[in-house]
Amino acid sequence: MKRSIAYVFTFIMVFLTVLGAASTKSFAAPKNVVVVIDPGHGGEGDRNLGAQYNGLSEKELTLRVANALKAELEKYDGITVYTTRTTDTAISLEDRAAYAKSVGADFVFSIHFNASGDHAFYGSEVWTSTFGNYYVAGSEFGNIVQSQWNELGLYQKGVKTRIGSSGKDYYGIIRACVARNMPCVIMEHAYLDHGYDVSKIKEGDFINKLAVADATAIAKYFKLKSSITGADYSGFKYASVKKPGRVLYQDETGPEKCEIKVLNYDISSGNVLVEMSTRDSQSPVIYFTYSYDGGKSFNILQMWDRTKETQSFNVKVPSGTVNPTIVCASYNNYEKGSLSNPVQVAATFNY
Ligand SMILES: [Zn+2]
Repeated sequence: MKRSIAYVFTFIMVFLTVLGAASTKSFAAPKNVVVVIDPGHGGEGDRNLGAQYNGLSEKELTLRVANALKAELEKYDGITVYTTRTTDTAISLEDRAAYAKSVGADFVFSIHFNASGDHAFYGSEVWTSTFGNYYVAGSEFGNIVQSQWNELGLYQKGVKTRIGSSGKDYYGIIRACVARNMPCVIMEHAYLDHGYDVSKIKEGDFINKLAVADATAIAKYFKLKSSITGADYSGFKYASVKKPGRVLYQDETGPEKCEIKVLNYDISSGNVLVEMSTRDSQSPVIYFTYSYDGGKSFNILQMWDRTKETQSFNVKVPSGTVNPTIVCASYNNYEKGSLSNPVQVAATFNY
């Protein structure tokens, strides 16, 4: 009897202890989150300007996004926001990371806009560290912010990693933050050298929309709420990303499969119906393009439905073309492309 009372007593004590722990946890003040917003580039000299196209300046846009993002984030409770620069000044990547460390950053968000060598690509992308929990944090946040950017009509290229010849992260700001134990992402919002993105960026309030999208993603990631706006992401759930079991390398090669056949054609409309099959086992195929002159000139990149391996589309051949040769190409999200087999259409197109 005595013994069983002791058991019951012990059980109750354990139960109360568990209950106590649980209630302590739920009533504890949430930990304040510290984030550092890093507007990329800044200052004079070619290296500091960032991308400069179509009357748009990367170093100016990053600062505008950062300022609007800070103001937006400060509407949330339990967050302190710092920025690495507030004026048009040059700061080294090491100094940006050191500053973030000095203020106790939980996460560093580096704001950028993109450009490509042949001005062919468009869309948004997120770069994260290739290593362990830094990869997990960057990927989980990256997935959230990409769904916010997608709502603004930007094409989403994905979350990517890149290793340099040193075996560490290729991008300096990510490398410098990881060296100081802080997760960091580079947020490439859009391309300044492609009409598809530029037309959006030039919409009057688009920079502010980007800042709100970024802030919403950060609030969702940290499960914040705002007593000012009433926004409440405390119950927000997102898919967890698995910690990589090996070092992740960037994709250096184009899709291993890129094949076409001509299904039919109509000389009176100029349409050639092409079926294309393309596959890349390392990274998603996200763009395709086509040529009717054997690959001398290509149409602008189209969006490839990455859920399908085979798709068909019309190639428009201009009137007056004799025996056009159709060649297509597909690109993965590392911008590596592969050319298809050529197919000649034995016909004169007049319409
Ligand atoms: Zn940049």
